[in-house]
Amino acid sequence: MKLAFVNEPVNSFVNPVDREAQIKAIEAVEASFGKRYPIVIGGQEFFTDKEIKSINPSDTSQVVGLAASATPELADKAVKVAYENFPAWSQTSFAERARILWRAASIMRKRRFELNATMILEAGKTWIEADADTAEAIDFCEFYAHEAIRYGQPQPVIPTAGEDDEMTYIPIGPVVVIPPWNFPLAITAGMTVAALVTGNTVVLKPASPTPVIAWKLFEILHEAGLPSGVLQYVPGSGGAVGDILVGHPLTRMVAFTGSMDVGIHINALAAKVAPGQIWLKRVIAEMGGKDAIIVADDGNIKEAAAAITASAFGFQGQKCSACSRAILDAAIYDDVMAEVVAATKKLKVGPAKDPNSQVGPVITESAMNSILGYMEIGKKEGKLLCGGGRADGPGYFLQPTIFGDVPAGARIEQEEIFGPVLSVTKADNYDHAIQIANGTIYGLTGAVFSRSQARLEQARRDFHVGNLYFNRKCTGALVCAQPFGGFNMSGTDSKAGGGDYLLLFLQAKTVCQKL
Ligand code: NAP
Ligand code: MG
Repeated sequence: MKLAFVNEPVNSFVNPVDREAQIKAIEAVEASFGKRYPIVIGGQEFFTDKEIKSINPSDTSQVVGLAASATPELADKAVKVAYENFPAWSQTSFAERARILWRAASIMRKRRFELNATMILEAGKTWIEADADTAEAIDFCEFYAHEAIRYGQPQPVIPTAGEDDEMTYIPIGPVVVIPPWNFPLAITAGMTVAALVTGNTVVLKPASPTPVIAWKLFEILHEAGLPSGVLQYVPGSGGAVGDILVGHPLTRMVAFTGSMDVGIHINALAAKVAPGQIWLKRVIAEMGGKDAIIVADDGNIKEAAAAITASAFGFQGQKCSACSRAILDAAIYDDVMAEVVAATKKLKVGPAKDPNSQVGPVITESAMNSILGYMEIGKKEGKLLCGGGRADGPGYFLQPTIFGDVPAGARIEQEEIFGPVLSVTKADNYDHAIQIANGTIYGLTGAVFSRSQARLEQARRDFHVGNLYFNRKCTGALVCAQPFGGFNMSGTDSKAGGGDYLLLFLQAKTVCQKL
């Protein structure tokens, strides 16, 4: 048993041995292109006529894999099997389950370059972004294993005289896990292993653009000793099978991360009690963001500009934590913008598998079209400072795009675009900047650049986001150090990677015996 948690270091690929290993792993994953992946329920494989085609967004002629796509009957079966297998799994010990996560983390380390390569090719992550995703998945396994040991202990109660009182945490039941494609290993692993280590059975419905990396997680957990039938792997279109999984009377909980619209829909459906259902379902829903970086008139301009550029365009702006708004004090607006625009124009857009690419493709054609639509809206609402359209290449490449002089309240300043588009707004002063930053329905991440401790304290109190950063970028939350989750329409603030997270997958039982 490990007593301390330490974050997994990320690879900067400066070492030629690592570079060579990553190139070889990319070639190996390319050699597996076109492979078929089954649905697995209760350890049984199912291939279906309808398949999900996982496309390489950097080169849309390439099919990374073909995943069987669940029918309504299979979705129903998956929940039933998760329910049937719950009693046995729920009786295993916290320590036994934690050991599976520790072994999974160790297998992920061994397969790290392969996992990175899969995300480079399936999700369009650049090398560094893919490696950070794998590192975070390892962190979730290590940290939740560590936390499970803590939650597995009897909890402190003070017994009354003449009685023996005890409170323990027990699992709650079958959990439907619905992750997004943007952290297709880390978030998928995080929600899945949290549910498993607390003793729940799981139906995992991966995001449709990224079923292959989710399959690898499924494979690793079994290699690590997870008994078959505890975790069901059920790819399928969210629209077609999502309601069956969420609405099923035997589903006890839904762990969702994705867009606000889908989160609202899931929350409403889960609230309905289906015939035969004997519990109120629990829902955690981590949703979108419209995250802002504020630069005060006393902020470090160079550091702020570098942070804005990195947070806005890392993984093509497709992070829930991405900086999609810069809010700059009028006094330093021109200086900051000169730096941000110059740095953005230098960003190299290209295929994710090329280690020199800094900005890869966006995930799908429909995402690309939606982002292009916002670029057109931006051209009317603000001043186009760079980018504004497609970039060359055989994939879904877009130019990193910045709009200046965007009025607060404009659509591109309010709606989540989820692509490489930054909206920049001028504030009259610091109070005004905070007011603009808070003026959205979301509340996920934010950052402030200022040299004044008093101003930072003001933001600590008034800037209403779940993850707030001072004098650094607003992306890249670390497991355990910066538990992650947002306020308002950014979700239920479940704080993934934090000490309270596993509690969401547990229920407490109190037993009192008269002595
Ligand atoms: P999405 O479109 O909402 O999809 C998320 C998941 O929900 C996918 O697995 C999707 O399946 C499924 N789904 C779709 N319709 C459903 C339905 N009716 N019932 C049940 N499931 C359904 O989001 P995305 O495009 O994958 O991810 C991007 C979004 O996630 C952004 O809004 C981003 O901000 C958010 N996000 C939030 C966090 C956070 O921690 N707050 C972290 C990462 C991402 P299909 O793929 O088959 O449609
Ligand atoms: Mg794809």
